[in-house]
Amino acid sequence: VNTGSKPDISRVKSAELYEKSKTYFPGGVNSPVRAFKSVYGTPLFIEKGDGCYIWDADGNQFIDFCGSWGPLILGHNNPKIREKVTEVMQNGMSFGAPTALENELAELIIKNNRFVEKIRFTSSGTEAVMSAIRLARGFTGRDKILKFEGCYHGHSDSLLVKAGSGLVTFGETSSAGVPKSFAEETIVIPLNDTTAIEQAFAQFKDQIAAVIIEGIPANNGLIMQDEEYIHFLSKICKDNGSLLIFDEVITGFRVGFEGAAAYYGVKPDIVTYGKIIGGGLPVGMYGASAEIMGHISPDGGVYQAGTLSGNPVAMAAGIATLTELNKSGFYKDLNNKTQEFVASIQRFAAARSYKFKVFTVGSIFWFAFTEKDKIQSADDIDASSMDKFKIMHRELLNRGIYLGPSGYEVGFVSSAHTKIELEKAKRAIFEALDLVF
Ligand code: PLP
Repeated sequence: VNTGSKPDISRVKSAELYEKSKTYFPGGVNSPVRAFKSVYGTPLFIEKGDGCYIWDADGNQFIDFCGSWGPLILGHNNPKIREKVTEVMQNGMSFGAPTALENELAELIIKNNRFVEKIRFTSSGTEAVMSAIRLARGFTGRDKILKFEGCYHGHSDSLLVKAGSGLVTFGETSSAGVPKSFAEETIVIPLNDTTAIEQAFAQFKDQIAAVIIEGIPANNGLIMQDEEYIHFLSKICKDNGSLLIFDEVITGFRVGFEGAAAYYGVKPDIVTYGKIIGGGLPVGMYGASAEIMGHISPDGGVYQAGTLSGNPVAMAAGIATLTELNKSGFYKDLNNKTQEFVASIQRFAAARSYKFKVFTVGSIFWFAFTEKDKIQSADDIDASSMDKFKIMHRELLNRGIYLGPSGYEVGFVSSAHTKIELEKAKRAIFEALDLVF
């Protein structure tokens, strides 16, 4: 029986911290979506995380489905990661010189992955994708890149055009400050549209260095693509001498050890990873065949570098994480648990004829206030449905459930979520849905 809206959680300490942070940082934050601009209340300042739980500065406890926006597939403060990081830290934090730890993480990735022969570590997903684009341009000798409406690939200039949640949450689709001449090198077309890509290749023949797509687009809601479409992309790139870049910063090691490339059975020319490979510390990576990677400095002429690239402490967190993910049954358990969770929410909404769908793949889910059975391009999303998300987000926070503070963001289940927490979350979600509709 639904008891109606719960009283709002206390945000006294978070509000105090926010007042202070606003004097230091634009919007009081160091990354825009954290500002809670499109949901209720001031941002929560987080003090602690353990397993699938987080606690804010006021002592409120939440079951966390944001997982630091994806990296925490093993949950917060995983003891194996903590032990490995603590051990490595005893020897110092950074050397700006090669360490054996880089080899160890690279080996875990390359030996278990059909899509990369050589890799380069960076310190963020943005850097990884920015460098992958430069590599594609250097390799092909072409300037234009083609991206998709709603896909986010980090905040480098050429990629901040129609770039998903962080922008669309604030009512924009592209960033100010990107020179027109840069944006002109970026062709943007809708997802899952074969005609649009054929037209783009017809118009810009021999100019397109690369087509970049999120493995499974998950930054503007979860926009599932037809499998044939992804195979078509791969073919049209090959036919035109363009490279296909899979940005797997979210999907890499999330939908499986070999990410979305294995999910579709497609071999991209360049792959980027981030988030999970750093186990909660700053790591990104791009990789390709030895031939393509041979164009990277110091072997080749495409320059890319980083003071903290391959940082030993971050490598340690990545090694501990991927070692767990590489154990047999890891993804099966995680994905099954997520799919059961999602299916029962879907059944609940369907039984009450709510205009609500849960789109999902692996351990990623997205709550969409829609009647549509498929969302395959950014245009399929009704912006006005975000008002319903706002109510849901508030009701869920008040019931101890934390989702990313935008209706365009996906949620993540971690291996630390047990049946108990998923049951509790389900009940809260049912109550919240009853209040939304
Ligand atoms: N690519 C994708 C698909 C992402 O989701 C993100 C971040 O959310 C990035 C790139 C950028 O990664 P980072 O935030 O580590 O710079």
